[in-house]
Amino acid sequence: MKFDDFDFHPDVRKGIRIAGFQEPSPIQKEVIPLIIEGHDMVGQAHTGTGKTAAFGLPIIDMLARKEIERALVIVPTRELASQVSDEIYHLGRFAGIRTLEVYGGVGYGRQIALIHKGTQIIVATPGRLKDLYRKGKIDVLSPEVVVLDEADEMLDMGFLDDIKEIFEFIPQNRQTLLFSATMPEPIKQLADQILFEPKFISVVGEEATTNNVIDQRYYVINENQRDEAIIKLLETEKYNKCLIFCRMKREVDRVSELLQAHRFKAAGLHGDMEQVDRDATVKSFRRNETKILVATDVAARGLDVKDVTHVINFHIPFDPQSYVHRIGRTGRAGKAGQAITLVSTEEFRELMRIRKEVGADMRLETMTGEGGVDSSTIDFVLQALEETAIHPEIDRVLAALAHLDQATFIKKALSYMVGQVQTGMGGQIGFDQDYVDDMIKNYQSEKQQSGNNRKRKRRR
Ligand code: ADP
Ligand code: MG
Repeated sequence: MKFDDFDFHPDVRKGIRIAGFQEPSPIQKEVIPLIIEGHDMVGQAHTGTGKTAAFGLPIIDMLARKEIERALVIVPTRELASQVSDEIYHLGRFAGIRTLEVYGGVGYGRQIALIHKGTQIIVATPGRLKDLYRKGKIDVLSPEVVVLDEADEMLDMGFLDDIKEIFEFIPQNRQTLLFSATMPEPIKQLADQILFEPKFISVVGEEATTNNVIDQRYYVINENQRDEAIIKLLETEKYNKCLIFCRMKREVDRVSELLQAHRFKAAGLHGDMEQVDRDATVKSFRRNETKILVATDVAARGLDVKDVTHVINFHIPFDPQSYVHRIGRTGRAGKAGQAITLVSTEEFRELMRIRKEVGADMRLETMTGEGGVDSSTIDFVLQALEETAIHPEIDRVLAALAHLDQATFIKKALSYMVGQVQTGMGGQIGFDQDYVDDMIKNYQSEKQQSGNNRKRKRRR
């Protein structure tokens, strides 16, 4: 199936051609005909599967044909409002489509003026939209098509009541479309309330497992090697844009500062940051000024930045679905991506569980530095030097080594100390296959034992 099969208005076809889209994605193939036919619908598909164009293209087409005058897209965050509005602008510019982002934190005046001027597609976040409706400022806004994008995320962010209130203001004779990556019960109920005889389209099946154009590697490391490992990775990998996932906001701050201190073009992104800072950070990453974005899962959700070449899990994610979501940020639109996960020996089992559950094809790697020295070793050596008393006979040793110049001598002595102190891995980061095989063996025999214990107990 080709885009031409949809019989779009020539201006819309041009937008698609210039955007470089070759072929409709699975969700697009399914939902575009339904939307054109005027159905309400629920579309379920994972992030990065082209949902924006799935609803954007038919809406632009209907506007271009003057079948409708106005559409409203409701999205959970300001970042998504910008993304969706950008994408629609690019696809619709030959059809002369005007879009407007409506969100909180800025003045009302300009937004209201532009709505009254007849902007055709309004992309809004729930809070500000509700305020505008409540204030009676936008009675003129009676969209013929309404899209609820990333509905599950709106639920997570506590916008459900706002959404329900907003729909009380919107006239009933509308076409309503709801998109979501997952379908929790409250979203199904919401769909029952606001949609009319909807069609349900789900293309999550094939997407629930990981994509094979993503090359997946992992390193089993000592907990104290994590910082060193990330730096070494960034020094050796050829990345264009790299997304690093942390589990906590604090960790995002710490890791981004660590990388900045090592002169990487890195920035952090998490929910505690001011909205303006978040916007600036995302923009800078998109423009490739920031090369490395360190983020939490929540902050990175729905983030669509093209050309992410590497996703690095600084820590293993909490669950298999997050793993799939995270690494799905790279290798999009047919380009191969790199996904790298750092796990401590404790986290290793968890990774194996994820691997099994999502059927991921991942391989173990090690990094062999030429004698990298981790900071804990340096600390240890320094402290040892401070604390060591000078041996009474040491002048005799020194005399025997008089043929070495002082600098060489000191370097050799320090190297010897470092060699003594280091974990015995000689600067290598990550355990190799033999070690990991042993770990798996131990793990299995442990499991067997605990299984036996259980059996024994039951018999009693
Ligand atoms: P979702 O909303 O499902 O997370 P997006 O709509 O943000 O996904 O699309 C992800 C990326 O894929 C965007 O950069 C978009 O421009 C691109 N894209 C969408 N449809 C196609 C297509 N048919 N062919 C190629 N790229 C596409
Ligand atoms: Mg989307």
